[in-house]
Amino acid sequence: MAGFFVGKEVKVKNYDWKYTFEKRKAKAYNREQKAGGFTCSHCKQFIVIDDSMGTAHRNHCNYCLWSKHVDLQKPGDRKATCHGGMQPVGLTFKDEGNDKYGNPRQGELKIVHRCAADLAISTNRIAADDDVDALFNILYAAMSLDHEVVAQLQHADVMLLEANDRKMIEVQLFGK
Ligand SMILES: [Zn+2]
Ligand SMILES: [Zn+2]
Repeated sequence: MAGFFVGKEVKVKNYDWKYTFEKRKAKAYNREQKAGGFTCSHCKQFIVIDDSMGTAHRNHCNYCLWSKHVDLQKPGDRKATCHGGMQPVGLTFKDEGNDKYGNPRQGELKIVHRCAADLAISTNRIAADDDVDALFNILYAAMSLDHEVVAQLQHADVMLLEANDRKMIEVQLFGK
């Protein structure tokens, strides 16, 4: 049989690549939900989705804390077409404004993610089963971020936590 190398481009009738791609993605997502989790595209761990995580939308891996750029406007909307890997670049507290004495209120602890593909930034609630060592690793790694990343975060009003915020972080995580 010599039917394979005919020196011509193989044309497939009515093949809409983009449509097929989106459909495959949707199918994969449904499979993950049925299986009760998904495989982290960064560290390849299987991430279980259940009610014990303390957050409605599991949007990052609880081992390496990487996320995937799937949300556009708000957590869980899944409207982004990027699907790039989102690196955890730092920790922050949710901005809750000031109290009546003018002191900043401390909001809940969040992970700052930055997309490796299109550099989009998002902040995400931590989940109950997030690896604590990984969280603290991010805290320290954030202190040697590139200047341009720091500038981008400042521009987006994201205040990175630093090593001397560790005590406050521990209070949030462990209650003491
Ligand atoms: Zn992971
Ligand atoms: Zn992206």
